[in-house]
Amino acid sequence: MNDAAPTLLLCSETDDLSGLCGEFERAAARDCPGLRVRCWTPDTPTTELQSVVAIAGWFVPMGLPARLLRLRLLASIGAGVEHLLRDPHLPPDVPVTRIVDPAQARGMAGYVLWAALHFHRDLDHVLAQQVRREWRMPSQRPVSAYRVGVMGLGAMGAEVARTLAAHGFDVHGWARRPAALDGVTTWAGPQAMRPFLAELDMVVSLLPLTPETWGLFDANWFATLKPGAVFVNCGRGEQLVVPALLDALRSGHLRGAVLDVFEHEPLPADDPLWAEPGVVITPHMASSASADVIAGQIVADAARVLVGQAPLHAVDRQRGY
Ligand code: NDP
Repeated sequence: MNDAAPTLLLCSETDDLSGLCGEFERAAARDCPGLRVRCWTPDTPTTELQSVVAIAGWFVPMGLPARLLRLRLLASIGAGVEHLLRDPHLPPDVPVTRIVDPAQARGMAGYVLWAALHFHRDLDHVLAQQVRREWRMPSQRPVSAYRVGVMGLGAMGAEVARTLAAHGFDVHGWARRPAALDGVTTWAGPQAMRPFLAELDMVVSLLPLTPETWGLFDANWFATLKPGAVFVNCGRGEQLVVPALLDALRSGHLRGAVLDVFEHEPLPADDPLWAEPGVVITPHMASSASADVIAGQIVADAARVLVGQAPLHAVDRQRGY
């Protein structure tokens, strides 16, 4: 790998990305002829990496990008970039990109709609009744009387909010900057968080992991929620202070939680969250982009940077998303 042919490196120290190699090779043959695709292993010597112009990665080893002198693109194979930005030695002028996929956003909207319907239609209570062989029809309230809040109105959150609104829910959205979304009441900034949260029946987080959102869901935050509210986390596990969630559930303040993301994934088998009443756990499956979309988007960006153009889908490294 030490000759001059530009190389795209699939690289992760936590996951085996070799299954993506064929998809990236097909995308390169189609959209960026001459770009080679290689998979990083811990044994790959740095001298062999000097032809790397683009990394497609997930938890790339810290310090590796800084050693690649021809690197022009650092691409996350997912929607989040915190696993790349954690490296304090990233070369300052290398753009960092992420996957933006409308089909993935629709998948996320489906997941959150399922969660909203589950609680709006009292399926948590009905499933508990079934265990007791108990026949009791819950009272129904109109969907427009069920208020759902969406935190983060980006590629994922905006589609989720629109889908919930189209279904008739009373949807409120919160982001850093003011946003306008049809059928959605929007709120912006830290000062608006309390009033935004106060009347929600369910709150869904689709926030990226940044210094501002790390540990955001703590005891004070849960205390702000209306008694009987439901918490859904599809953002990142590090945003949740788990003991605060458990206290809120066990005191009866919180009705339930749907958790798709965790600080440590896979969630260890002995984690108490598995058995906590009121908690639904899903294995980071809310929505993923398909391999051809991931490869196509990243190879297209590699082709752009090789001819001196800015990549699409670059994040603001200062902002962290
Ligand atoms: P985007 O970058 O498109 O959107 C992020 C949104 O969060 C923006 O609306 C932004 O506000 C808002 N935001 C960021 N920081 C703050 C803050 N401090 N206060 C208020 N609002 C803030 O991200 P995506 O929608 O693509 O993805 C969001 C996250 O969802 C990802 O980072 C990832 O963690 C998670 N995800 C999880 C998946 C799963 O399967 N569980 C799948 C895909 C994504 P503004 O608009 O004002 O900039």
